[in-house]
Amino acid sequence: MPLTDKHGRNITDLRVSITDRCNYRCVYCRSGEDQIPFSELPIETYVRLIRVFVSLGVEKVRITGGEPLLRKEIIPLVEELAAMTTTNTAKPLDVAITTNGHLLAKLAQPLKHAGLSRITVSMDAVDRNKFAQITRVANGYDAVVAGIRAAKHAGLEPVKVNAVVLRGFNEDQIVPFARFACDEGVIVRFIEFMPLEEDRIWAPNTVVGFNEMLDILNSFRPLVPLPATTPGETAMRYTFASISSGDGVGEVGIIAPVSRAFCGACSRVRLTSDGKIRTCLFSQSDHDLYAVLQRGGTDADLANFIEKTIQKKEARHHIGEPGFLKPSRSMVHIGG
Ligand code: SF4
Repeated sequence: MPLTDKHGRNITDLRVSITDRCNYRCVYCRSGEDQIPFSELPIETYVRLIRVFVSLGVEKVRITGGEPLLRKEIIPLVEELAAMTTTNTAKPLDVAITTNGHLLAKLAQPLKHAGLSRITVSMDAVDRNKFAQITRVANGYDAVVAGIRAAKHAGLEPVKVNAVVLRGFNEDQIVPFARFACDEGVIVRFIEFMPLEEDRIWAPNTVVGFNEMLDILNSFRPLVPLPATTPGETAMRYTFASISSGDGVGEVGIIAPVSRAFCGACSRVRLTSDGKIRTCLFSQSDHDLYAVLQRGGTDADLANFIEKTIQKKEARHHIGEPGFLKPSRSMVHIGG
């Protein structure tokens, strides 16, 4: 039986943070105060924990962080995961990475060889200066664009680029990003800003909502809706109407967790870098899976703990509602 929560949702997607460290300090994500990050575990420990999740029906694993490419053992980790087979469909495990792309140019080919299926690059501006202003890192833009091109060259297609949009901050990047999607042949997805940042700057008026983003994109070129690629896909997909030859290329998407929540079809569970299960991005508590292992727990004990924890998965988030509580961890300490 697939791993199912008490709301009848099959939990098939696991996101694993393998480090809390990051080589960027994005202003809306990290407050800039160098806090002690949460600990990280040996790679073989993640492999063991992930293997138990896969035995329970997980079919997709996304490796996140902090910045996962900072872990020197990223290639052997991908090799181990890519060698796993899903329990219910007997297919190769779908292994993906979310990265800021800064280290990707050198690692794209080895990751592909190791068996990586997909790559997503988090990037919030295509203007060099704005990119440096957001990340508080000089010369990052060229490194990331080189990483994206190396990923395409390595065959990690389609390369997805995720951009979090904040009002008064980078909504002026939406049209340049649409052009970037066409020029670079990548899929750019615009994400509504969620109250998951470290510095607690979120407010309803900082959100550039779905409809507004749609209007801005349509002002660039008329959009043509595309069908979802998988059930429960969180992005609304579009391409551009072909006005003249060469058009009609490029794909953009909008992920609208605030104005168009998709919790009803949520298939995700997360494992933090220090081995704690988070049943929802907005959970008020963690569930310490690593502690079961530290106490000498068997794989059966780990599986039992996971199954019990999944029954505690929240039905949905309550962003913008009276009494909404910010989650007990910010995004950088969860992993996305
Ligand atoms: S907010 Fe929670 S329940 Fe909703 S989609 Fe995200 S993780 Fe799933």
